[in-house]
Amino acid sequence: MERRVAASPETVKKFIGLGAAVAVEAGAGLASGIADADYAAAGAEVGARASVLSGAGIVLGVQAPEPASLAGAAPGARVVAMHAPAANPDRAKAYAAAGYEALAMELMPRITRAQSMDVLSSQSNLSGYKAVLDAAAEYNRAFPMMMTAAGTVSAAKVFIMGVGVAGLQAIATARRLGAQVSATDVRSATKEQILSLGAKPIFVEAVKGIEGEGSGGYATEMSDEYKAAQAQLVSAHIAKQDIVITTALIPGRAAPRLVSDAQIATMRPGSVLIDLAVEAGGNVEGAVAGEIVVKHGVKIVGHRNVPSRLAADASLLYARNLFNFLSAFWDKDTQAPVLPDDDEIVKGVRLTLDGKAVHPMLEPVLG
Ligand code: NAD
Repeated sequence: MERRVAASPETVKKFIGLGAAVAVEAGAGLASGIADADYAAAGAEVGARASVLSGAGIVLGVQAPEPASLAGAAPGARVVAMHAPAANPDRAKAYAAAGYEALAMELMPRITRAQSMDVLSSQSNLSGYKAVLDAAAEYNRAFPMMMTAAGTVSAAKVFIMGVGVAGLQAIATARRLGAQVSATDVRSATKEQILSLGAKPIFVEAVKGIEGEGSGGYATEMSDEYKAAQAQLVSAHIAKQDIVITTALIPGRAAPRLVSDAQIATMRPGSVLIDLAVEAGGNVEGAVAGEIVVKHGVKIVGHRNVPSRLAADASLLYARNLFNFLSAFWDKDTQAPVLPDDDEIVKGVRLTLDGKAVHPMLEPVLG
């Protein structure tokens, strides 16, 4: 279930300040702790979907709705949401056919100018935090070392695999809870970041091509030699860990497999694995989206849509990302955004325009 919402009372006020009229579907914010009255107090009209959609030139959403459910919106309306075009190319095609302009926020380019519009960062940061809390909740021991009159409780050993936005926050959170934290990534640039957060980097040193950094700071697929060396190093390390949190993604591909069933079998029963990449195919063998599976006495946690598990904060940040995007292109005279075709941000996020699919990601479905 999606608990997040795409506007907050704060962004409603700001859009109204730019000259927009804002309408919110009744109940849209409830699961994020925002009452209809809060939106109304911010100046929004609150009503049933059909009435708030009527004539809308911009529709804000979290997961993109089916275009058929947008009947009544203005012709050519802009739909700003997470469209997941790789997983739903036919839906993007349907957006083109319906004449809407689909703007996919998760494709925001990783450039300085777009940092405040970057929904993947704002949401991954919360996922990294929540992954550690989920691990702590499933683990039947304590995280910090405790020296008590009855004896000493040893600190949990936490290993973070994939040190992007989510992984960095997971390291920081596990450290705050008093765990002994280590981390690894294919991008060697993360070593410094791991050290600066007080955690131990676990890196393959002796293999060529370990830089692992492709365009936009994202990871690239690694050589077979590197993968074998990494698997060996990680195997020895995993056997000593209590908690493993995996966050590794490669854009446009299935998530890399980082932990095998044989490696899980070496962990102490009662250990916990959290697979944040489970919806992209999974980093952990045996992880199932939406389930907690027990294998060899180890819990493999595959929660779906982790940011939605912190809906109130996730919504506030997501809503700000959307406002920052639209307001950056706001035209005072027409009181609407103007999105130039040649702008890097617009080229990154625009999927459809004037009845056509315009993003290179959609080329395979254009026929
Ligand atoms: P991501 O979600 O795409 O992947 C998570 C991490 O998994 C990455 O660090 C990646 O290197 C790692 N990974 C991939 N394959 C792996 C493997 N086989 N083993 C171990 N780790 C593996 O990453 P992200 O959080 O979106 O961040 C990607 C990069 O983009 C980072 O360098 C981040 O700092 C950068 N970034 C830049 C901006 C900006 O400039 N606007 C905004 C956000 C993030």
